[in-house]
Amino acid sequence: MTPQPFRALYVHVPFCRLRKCGYCAFYSETAADAGRRGAYLERLVAEFSEFAPRAVVPLDSVFVGGGTPSCLTSAELRRLLAAVRGHFTLAPDAEFSVECNPESLTLRKAEILAAGGVTRLSLGVQSFDLRLRRAIGRCGSVATLPERVRELRALGFRQLNLDLMNALPGQTLANWEDDLRRALDLGPDHLSTYSLTVEEHTALGKRGVEAADDRLAVAMWDAAERLARPAGLRRYEVSNLARPGCECRHNQDIWLGTPYLGCGPAACSFDGILRWSNPPSLARWLRPRCRREFDRLPPSRRAAEVLAFGLRTVRGWVPARFRERTGFDYADLRGPVLRRLVAQGLLYRDWERRLRPTRKGLLFHDTVARELL
Ligand code: SF4
Repeated sequence: MTPQPFRALYVHVPFCRLRKCGYCAFYSETAADAGRRGAYLERLVAEFSEFAPRAVVPLDSVFVGGGTPSCLTSAELRRLLAAVRGHFTLAPDAEFSVECNPESLTLRKAEILAAGGVTRLSLGVQSFDLRLRRAIGRCGSVATLPERVRELRALGFRQLNLDLMNALPGQTLANWEDDLRRALDLGPDHLSTYSLTVEEHTALGKRGVEAADDRLAVAMWDAAERLARPAGLRRYEVSNLARPGCECRHNQDIWLGTPYLGCGPAACSFDGILRWSNPPSLARWLRPRCRREFDRLPPSRRAAEVLAFGLRTVRGWVPARFRERTGFDYADLRGPVLRRLVAQGLLYRDWERRLRPTRKGLLFHDTVARELL
């Protein structure tokens, strides 16, 4: 296979407000001044210029994440959106997502995002419960969220995601159900429900905090599905639920092996052959010839990764699609392992011979991935 043009763009905004959340393993700086944010935007434009010729025309999706993109000022956001539009052509129906913190997303910024063609907003809530927010060191409040959601709907945003977290220290099933109900009362089109994982180098990890036990985590996973169903949201991936047609296209494409370009510090890219990552440091990334880390996987290993990632989604794989994406037949690539996973009740084939995860296979996706890799 030869390198393929990027079909999706990810932009990493490496700034957060005052201090890092206790569980955060993403790269971001807090309280950066205007000079630092200006240098970031200037370097981002240079990175767009360097890689835009290798992107398809038009792009299917753009995802601006971080960090907290809504920490940028109104003028900075406008500049970022103009830079995306100035370097890349987006399909008329392209998905254009931006991650926001409800507190830093003012009405003015929301108007700029709407005018800049953003189609989907992802709002970081994590929990409505003040005690739990404190326990995970999530600063800020969600008091303004209902008002924000009303404003966003009035501005015409049809795709709203709310990010929630479960398995938090001290969180009961009843606490989690309360968070789910409060989120669903706001009428989101998409819910991301991630279980807390405590990494050693985070503030929670250093304090020795532990996530909830597995049995409680499974009950919380079930509760998300049970409470979201009457609101019309269905699970379509291990941690994500959406109304039909509101699934995050960008993430689905990445899970299914689409070549993508990542710009900004710590962002990763993949061109079908090579994978590379920018330095996870604003200072190092700002250097005109920043050193990227390259990773050339043997094609069969890369195909196995794509196979495992696609099996995070409820729809899984049809053989023709997998062959088109990777050049491999999954039966040739990992036949005995797949048969074993089917026998263990983690995968199954449906009537159109689509290979899909069972409920157990979604819950224990780590096991599926480990076996396939
Ligand atoms: S807002 Fe998000 S990116 Fe920023 S510190 Fe918290 S979890 Fe990390």
